[in-house]
Amino acid sequence: MSLAERAARERLLEKAKASANACRLCRMGSERRNNVYGEGDPCARLMLVGEGPGETEDLTGRPFVGRSGQLLEKMLGAIGLAREDVYICNTVKCRPTDPGPRGPKNRAPEPAEMANCRPYLDEQIDIIRPAVILALGAPAAKSFLGKDFQITKQRGRWFEGPLGIALMATFHPAYVLRQTGGELEGVKRMVWADLKAVRDRLAEPPTGGADAAPEQVGLFGEGA
Ligand code: URA
Repeated sequence: MSLAERAARERLLEKAKASANACRLCRMGSERRNNVYGEGDPCARLMLVGEGPGETEDLTGRPFVGRSGQLLEKMLGAIGLAREDVYICNTVKCRPTDPGPRGPKNRAPEPAEMANCRPYLDEQIDIIRPAVILALGAPAAKSFLGKDFQITKQRGRWFEGPLGIALMATFHPAYVLRQTGGELEGVKRMVWADLKAVRDRLAEPPTGGADAAPEQVGLFGEGA
């Protein structure tokens, strides 16, 4: 990837981030502290998509920086990737909350909120054009693959995602953190199998899909 292409993507992402930041389509936009647009390598070959920001993400404006984020970094490390090597974002860019006795508490994003945020996610995918999208957890997977997607049965399989990009779903790190004993071992084994499949897919040469090198039109254009 040329430096010029990288800089162009950075500029596009900055612009897109500013419009997401100004968005007030849902009440989340006025209730959240920070818009959590996403972060990482604008030329990443792997994009991770979670459900939505939690409290720590809302405070910092960065995705996956709480306990789930720490586990996510370990998961990435297991396949030789650092956080900076990938692009991390969520289906919704603002923290969905309900009022609670000790302040706002997390809730799942509503379908309408996901729909409002979808253009921001689609734009990110279009700018970054990763080789692989890994959806973390059922809500993120359903947002790509439809409401009938079943994470327990269909995780670890390859699907065609937006722009023909290879897409897989695995368990959300928060779900892994909630398991104990034998269940934890089983879930960890499944996540490890999914991660290895992602690693192998990333090792494959670009196929001419979204991952292919951009056409070098200039080579054959006027004056060539
Ligand atoms: N869970 C998510 O789905 N996304 C985050 O950014 C953090 C926790």
